[in-house]
Formats: sequence, structure tokens, C-alpha cells
Amino acid sequence: MSDVISLDDFRPHLSGPAICSGCHHEWQAAAPVGAWELECPKCGRMMGLWKYEFQPETFYECGCGSRLFYVVPDGCRCRECGAYAD
Ligand SMILES: [Zn+2]
Ligand SMILES: [Zn+2]
Repeated sequence: MSDVISLDDFRPHLSGPAICSGCHHEWQAAAPVGAWELECPKCGRMMGLWKYEFQPETFYECGCGSRLFYVVPDGCRCRECGAYAD
């Protein structure tokens, strides 16, 4: 059970389903409030994201299927493929 962690180390914290945008591994994550990049327990990269907590009701979906975007000075770029949102 190497993925068991002490929640006391993370108060105040959020916990819930997370998904890695790198390898698409899904797991139950716990992290401090404000943490938006989670370490993926499978691939070890800081590419994990909360799966549900902050998902709005209306959102854009990239042609590659991703719903995750970075807001950059010249627009919004898909986190997965780098394409700009229309
Ligand atoms: Zn991963
Ligand atoms: Zn994309």
C-alpha cells in the first residue's frame, strides 16, 4: 500500500479523483488547497489534474478530445496537443 498517505500532512486539503494528462492514469489524490498540478503516481510527472472538482458546466473541447487548456497571452492552448482553441 505504498500509495497510502497521511491526510494530516495536507491540511487544509482537497481529495478526489485525479487524472494524469500525460499517461491518463486515474487515481484518488489528496493535495493542499490551491494545488493544481498533482504528481502522477504512475509516471511520476507533475501532470495530474483534478478530474471533477472544478469542471464548469460549459467548456471547450479540443479536436484531440482534451478539455484542458492553458490560458496564454495570445489565446488558449490545448494542454495535450498544443493547438490553439478557436
Ligand atoms: Zn502519469
Ligand atoms: Zn488538443
